[in-house]
Amino acid sequence: MTEVTPSKRKAVVLLSGGLDSTTVLAIARSEGYEVYALTFHYGQRHEAEIEAARRIATLSGVAEHVVAEIDLRAFGGSALTADIEVPKGRAAEEMAKGIPVTYVPARNTIFLSFALAWAEVVGASNIFIGVNALDYSGYPDCRPEYIEAFQRMADLATKAGVEERQELVIHTPLINLTKAQIVMKGIELGVDYSLTVTCYDPSKDGAACGQCDACLLRLKGFAENEMSDPARYRTVSQARA
Ligand code: ZN
Repeated sequence: MTEVTPSKRKAVVLLSGGLDSTTVLAIARSEGYEVYALTFHYGQRHEAEIEAARRIATLSGVAEHVVAEIDLRAFGGSALTADIEVPKGRAAEEMAKGIPVTYVPARNTIFLSFALAWAEVVGASNIFIGVNALDYSGYPDCRPEYIEAFQRMADLATKAGVEERQELVIHTPLINLTKAQIVMKGIELGVDYSLTVTCYDPSKDGAACGQCDACLLRLKGFAENEMSDPARYRTVSQARA
């Protein structure tokens, strides 16, 4: 096996094709990182986001884009991977309470582990992930202390870490931003949000429902910037169908 010299300028960016991760990709690019974009086909019901991720990665000029197949439907346990209804029309206070059924068990731990493996292979010293502690306060794997713990674990877990060839840094540029601040940041960086898919329950052709937690948070983020969301939403008649 050839030794790859770790590069401080290489970064693995977790890219779902949604608003947050697309903004994170733009931030990594604006900071001069050579981006290795990683998307997961994990059996999510919103597969439209994978197509979105492909388009975004291509247009962003990433060094490489990998769509890893990991089927989390084997376990189910989430409205995103099992036949459980996605909650619609919830108020912000309701979203902030407890862990929602759209939480995918251990998802960020699984995703970060894959990112860590790829980072070691390509010799990247950086991982970018679009976790957010404000909007997803009910998600245990979006908290700063979780990210810190993962970073400590990564240094123990990898050959590169042990040999001190590589000090891995996990970047969470959105962790303390509101959705409105994230949208503003992305607009400043020239992100085309019409390419992104956020909805937990889109129609077959990728149109957003406008009613799930993810859609409502996203719409609020644009509204607070006095902008309209360029994403495609289902028409009312389709939404009722
Ligand atoms: Zn939706």
